[in-house]
Amino acid sequence: MVKKQFAVIGLGRFGVSVCRELYKLGHDVLAIDVVEDKVSEMVNYSTHSAVADGTDEKSLRSLGVGNFDHVIVAIGDNLQASILCTLLLKDMDIKQVWVKAQNYNHHKVLEKIGADKIIHPEHDMGNRIAQHLISDKVIDSIELSEEYAIVEIGVSNSIHNRSLIDLDIRAKYGVTVLAIRRGKDINISPLAHDKIYKDDILIVIGHKNDLKRFEAVT
Ligand code: ATP
Repeated sequence: MVKKQFAVIGLGRFGVSVCRELYKLGHDVLAIDVVEDKVSEMVNYSTHSAVADGTDEKSLRSLGVGNFDHVIVAIGDNLQASILCTLLLKDMDIKQVWVKAQNYNHHKVLEKIGADKIIHPEHDMGNRIAQHLISDKVIDSIELSEEYAIVEIGVSNSIHNRSLIDLDIRAKYGVTVLAIRRGKDINISPLAHDKIYKDDILIVIGHKNDLKRFEAVT
C-alpha cells in the first residue's frame, strides 16, 4: 500500500470518522479543529493533531497543510468558514480538496470555487439505505453518477451453478461482474467459465436500469 498524507479540517462526527478510518488504514492524518477538546480526542486516532482555525492561512501554512495532496474540509454549520477554508486550500494549489456540504446553496458555491469533490454524507447514506430497503438482494451499492452504480447482489437458487458465459450477463443485461465473493474469498477477476453458486455475492457495475433487470433474475 502507498502511504498517503491527508489533512482533515473540522472534527465533527463526519470529520472524526474520516480521520479514524484513514489512520486505521495506515495513512498519515493531520487532524485540525478550532476546539481544543475535539483535537485532544483525536490524539490516538491521527498522526498529528492541532488546534487551528481553517480560515487562517498563516496557521494552515505553519502546519504544512500546503504540502498535502489531499485535504478534507468537514467544517459543519459554519458555511462561511467552510467556504473560506476551501478557497484558501485551492489557492494553496492543493490537488484534492474534498468538502462536506450542508445544503444545495453551499454545494453550488463550493462547485464555483473549485472544490474537487462535494460530499453530502446524510443524503448519500440515506440513498444507500433506501436501496437496501427496497431490494432484498442488493447488499450494498455505490452510486458512481446519476446513471451508473456498483452494487453487491446476493445470488439465489435461480442462477445457482451457472457460469458467467452460460448466463451471458454482459450481452443480455449490459452489466459487468467485477468480482465474486464466496464466504471470505473474493475472486477479483472472474473468468467467463467461472461458476456462480447460491449465496455467492456478485459485485456488478452498470447502468442502474440494467442493474435492476439483472437483479430481478439473480
Ligand atoms: P457532523 O457531526 O455530522 O459532522 P456537522 O457537519 O454539523 O455534523 P459539526 O458538529 O458542526 O459538524 O462539526 C464541525 C467541526 O468543525 C466542529 O468540531 C467545529 O469545531 C469545527 N470547526 C468549525 N469552524 C472551524 C474552523 N474555522 N476551523 C476549524 N474547525 C472548525
